[in-house]
Amino acid sequence: MKRGIIITIDGPSGAGKGTLARAIAKRLGYSYLDTGAMYRAIALLIHRKNINIDNEKRLSEMLLQTHISFERDQNSNLRVFLNREDVTEEIRAPEISKLSSDVATKKVVRDYLRGMQRRIALKGNIVTEGRDMGTYVFPNADFKFYIDASLSERARRRRIQLKESGIKVSIEEVKSDIEGRDKQDKERLESPLHPAPDAVIIDTTNLTVDKAVEKIMKTIMEGHNLK
Ligand code: C5P
Repeated sequence: MKRGIIITIDGPSGAGKGTLARAIAKRLGYSYLDTGAMYRAIALLIHRKNINIDNEKRLSEMLLQTHISFERDQNSNLRVFLNREDVTEEIRAPEISKLSSDVATKKVVRDYLRGMQRRIALKGNIVTEGRDMGTYVFPNADFKFYIDASLSERARRRRIQLKESGIKVSIEEVKSDIEGRDKQDKERLESPLHPAPDAVIIDTTNLTVDKAVEKIMKTIMEGHNLK
């Protein structure tokens, strides 16, 4: 396989993008970029500094002093650093999820993160995961996937993930969080969530992780879209 491949994985909350992106990156020996974590890190900073997200000037000033980075721990899990502080767990809190979707509607934030994402992916051989990867950030990506699943299945999975991180929430709360964020992510003016016209759409509602990984790997290995 030639060098410099970019694989994008987009889709709504809880569809399994993260699990699949990590698995594909591992199989191919590529790096993995979780762009949702970047929006979450910005949201955490805004929350801490109590910044009004409608104040574009304050947002721009804040972004100039913001540094986001990723490191692998000894178990190969990706850890997220905000101005050198490890915020991996803190950015998963429910109030930060909601705020990250609000923050993601802001052009100044998207412009800043888009630049950063493109710099990180410059060398290629990377799997990037988010909402606008195949559409607005990497429109020329080599392989594009859009991962979806029913709302109740996505809520069920997200609740298990949260529970594993020690956050207990009811299924109704998880459902309403992801439903609200998906609506806002799909309806915003800046880089709204939708499948790229050339993306392979995979519904994972009734698929195991292994089956979904196989589907994606088959597409990549065949070197063309399944559609
Ligand atoms: O993927 P995750 O749930 O961690 O993303 C948090 C939020 O960040 C999403 O609800 C979405 O509003 C925003 N986001 C985005 N574009 C991306 C990745 C995430 O707008 N590429």
